[in-house]
Amino acid sequence: MAEKHKNPIPNPKATSSSHGTSTTKFKGLTTELLHNANAPKDPHGGVHPAIQRSVTYTYDSVEELIGAFQGNLPKDHPSGFTYARSSSPTVTHLESRINHLENGISTVCTATGMAAIILPILALLRAEDHIITSKHLFGNTVNLFNTLKRFGIDLDCVDMTDMREIEAAIKPGKTRIIFLETISNPLTYIPDLENIQALAAHHDIITIVDNTLTTPYFFKPQKLGFTFSHHSLTKYLGGHAAALGGSLTDLGTMKWQNSPNVLDFYKTTATAARSNSLAMQQIRKKGLRDMGSTLSADSAATIALGLETFVLRIERIKSNIKEIALYLEKHPKVARVYHPTLRSHPHHNRMNDWFSCTGSQKKEYFGSGILSFELKPPHDMLKMINCLKIFRRATHLGDTRSLVIPVAPTIFFESGRNRRQYLGISENLIRLSIGIEEVEDLLTDLAEALKKS
Ligand SMILES: *Cc1c(COP(=O)(O)O)cnc(C)c1O
Repeated sequence: MAEKHKNPIPNPKATSSSHGTSTTKFKGLTTELLHNANAPKDPHGGVHPAIQRSVTYTYDSVEELIGAFQGNLPKDHPSGFTYARSSSPTVTHLESRINHLENGISTVCTATGMAAIILPILALLRAEDHIITSKHLFGNTVNLFNTLKRFGIDLDCVDMTDMREIEAAIKPGKTRIIFLETISNPLTYIPDLENIQALAAHHDIITIVDNTLTTPYFFKPQKLGFTFSHHSLTKYLGGHAAALGGSLTDLGTMKWQNSPNVLDFYKTTATAARSNSLAMQQIRKKGLRDMGSTLSADSAATIALGLETFVLRIERIKSNIKEIALYLEKHPKVARVYHPTLRSHPHHNRMNDWFSCTGSQKKEYFGSGILSFELKPPHDMLKMINCLKIFRRATHLGDTRSLVIPVAPTIFFESGRNRRQYLGISENLIRLSIGIEEVEDLLTDLAEALKKS
């Protein structure tokens, strides 16, 4: 009886070392997500692990408590948790799932996607280190990096689709991180992912790839050798606009033992000896523990629930968006459509090279669930958006519902007209985030709104 009531959650360190080497048992990702053998068993047979909201964790002996702090607990110890700001069972469970999806060796989850971007930078860099990133980056990420400049981090924003610009920006010995997104928002540009990673590896530069828009179903950054994969779990993986969250996964491609970015302390302590990612130890401690951008157990459980259906949702979004992109491209009132499934898109071939799905029977390609388009003047963008009945007027993307937003006066308002022009964002650009509704309804909604504008 006593055995039965023992904490059924395995030691987080034990799971993190086992899922690093675990192989996929099933052909399909959804099967894997629903029947993953690594998942903690509920003592009552519940199909979902119970949500563990405890902030602190107690030990029968003080030696065990000390062991927990020093990373010295036996591998089969049921806990290992000390304080929920650093890690807790429900969040650990979600971390192991994301880790598995990304073929990673260690994953940390955070309160938001933004927190998972700042964590590795604050934990690994120091003043005068140099970051290269894209000028087409997600707006908030650009703002965040510009804030870092005030603290002595050097930054260059380049055109990530142009290898010459990236090569020219590298400062040997100083450039420590290249941060990039798989697909840009809202114009859906795709960087030369393979060559960027090859260049970074040549210079021992850490790469962080924001895989939010492509999801691990269509793109595995680990296969191209990237250092970290980042997600806003708020988007496709959680999928229901019901919880914020972020994740960062060490993909096991960087030899941290020789890295100047990992402090000696994290290379030599007992915790380090047990850890399969020295960098992640430092990120979890210097980042998560000290800065406190921790994901709550409730949000982790909500995201884990969303994760169960993410493949179904993304499959549906993929087929919806293909039809919508073709429809808009042919529409007489539409000047231009930005989506990589279209042959007219400058990076259509890059999508075919990297964003293919191997899980299903036939190979499928995906560009992202967002699409942007411009109306031909004098058609009125605002009137068109107001006439939509299904598309919700809202920021956000990756939701079950289709969403619409005029880009210039909202998410790119702070940039100002000159910067928008420099980025190629026209004043009448409309962004759609496609949801899982039946495509007939979405096409009808667009057709009627276009008729009236
Ligand atoms: C939304 C988003 C983020 C930020 O995520 P939050 O969970 O909203 O903090 C980062 N990167 C991309 C590409 C995003 O779409």
